[in-house]
Amino acid sequence: MLRKDCVDAAFGQFLSLLEWVCWKWGVYFVKVNPNGTRQTCPSSFATVSNSLEARGHCCSECGYRMHRDHAAYARIYDLAL
Ligand SMILES: [Zn+2]
Repeated sequence: MLRKDCVDAAFGQFLSLLEWVCWKWGVYFVKVNPNGTRQTCPSSFATVSNSLEARGHCCSECGYRMHRDHAAYARIYDLAL
């Protein structure tokens, strides 16, 4: 439990520092809730049930295919705007 608190505190401190650096350099900074970004299709916003072992994102609703990390990035990008 103490270890998790230390990791959370270090990550929180990192985010605060990153936010300050972005403000100082005039770079856009936003925190995005990462929950569900892997399961949501960035094209149709349908819920996709891909297993963790699957490296690709394949949407049965719209046929959107991409590497799962790129699909999660596209979803996070949509949430940030
Ligand atoms: Zn889709």
